[in-house]
Amino acid sequence: MTSLDDFARTKLDRLETEGLRRRMILTDRFSETGARRGGRDLVSFCCNDYLSLSHHPEVIEAAREATSRYGTGSGGSRLISGNTPLYDTLEATLARWKQTEDCMVFGSGYLTNLGVIPCLAGKGDLIMQDELNHSCLFAGGRISGAAVHTFRHNDVDHARQILRQHRAAHGTCVIAVDGVFSMDGDIAPIDELAALAREYEAWLMTDDAHGLGVVGGGRGSSFLGAAKSDVPLQMGTLSKAIGAYGGYLCASQPVIDLIRNRGRSFVYSTGLPPGTLAAAIKALEIIERDPAMCARPIENAARFCAALGLAVPVSPIVPVILGEARRVMEASTALQERGFLVTGIRPPTVPEGTARLRVTFSAAHTAADIDGLVAAMRELGLAG
Ligand SMILES: *Cc1c(COP(=O)(O)O)cnc(C)c1O
Repeated sequence: MTSLDDFARTKLDRLETEGLRRRMILTDRFSETGARRGGRDLVSFCCNDYLSLSHHPEVIEAAREATSRYGTGSGGSRLISGNTPLYDTLEATLARWKQTEDCMVFGSGYLTNLGVIPCLAGKGDLIMQDELNHSCLFAGGRISGAAVHTFRHNDVDHARQILRQHRAAHGTCVIAVDGVFSMDGDIAPIDELAALAREYEAWLMTDDAHGLGVVGGGRGSSFLGAAKSDVPLQMGTLSKAIGAYGGYLCASQPVIDLIRNRGRSFVYSTGLPPGTLAAAIKALEIIERDPAMCARPIENAARFCAALGLAVPVSPIVPVILGEARRVMEASTALQERGFLVTGIRPPTVPEGTARLRVTFSAAHTAADIDGLVAAMRELGLAG
């Protein structure tokens, strides 16, 4: 065995011992909420496809048509030849939806955060992050070269303390938070953070990967209050409730123009496949036509939580924290034997000791699906 293989095996052995080794399992998502694994049909409660739009016939047809018209790939970076006319429509729709001057679509949500953050902060600047932020916000912060400070989850006073101590010594300052937290399903105190940002001359950025399509009437976490929240940088993904793929930033004209020029993950990466762009455009059109659909995932989560005596959910993400990684994986297997796909989430995705079942709800789940999962969770002593 080579030293390279040795190196890999040693690392893997350690993960195995800690119950943290990950394995990909082939999953055939054959319908809106159906997933087949190992020849078995399961009801999936772990997709981020909150509106099941990835299986919507009109969305599929739009992708098919665009693929026939423009081809399977975009053929280049958007600054060279990959800027298909579909981009204009998609970006204009998102900007209108988010009430900003402009929008910029990236290859994915992850690439958006890697591209945007280093355009706004660098060496000598300051980035403030909630400790439970998604990994790619941290990755964007790290590659920017700015000083990164982490505040306790949703703790605005802690963020203020850090700013009081460190703001003056830095140039620009970005406060970045998940709008809806991906593994906990709770929501950032956006208006309070916006006020804090104004007080300390900082720029607030929300990552609404789990907000678009499901909270704020589908427009996301900036639209939860009576008035739109003051968030100059609204980022999100087209890969979740929109059922397609890609990421976006909605912001003012000068900010988007800067990012079009300097966002490295955009400049040096190929444009999205036309079929994907067309799917996202059609999905947004369907949401605008039927905004009531956006409320359904949270209504379904609420039915589940009420039955098990869990707190009233504010998003379609319900964490059932079991603590130890191994226990979570056993629970997931037991649920699968009963016909439900609910995956376990372990460190380092979540903090040590908080391994959990992350249950997510779709507009397409039926009452019978939800009640069946409730019964299985009760039988296994997992909740309720
Ligand atoms: C999923 C996710 C991303 C990444 O988006 P992709 O389009 O899947 O790359 C970014 N931020 C948060 C909070 C997410 O949950």
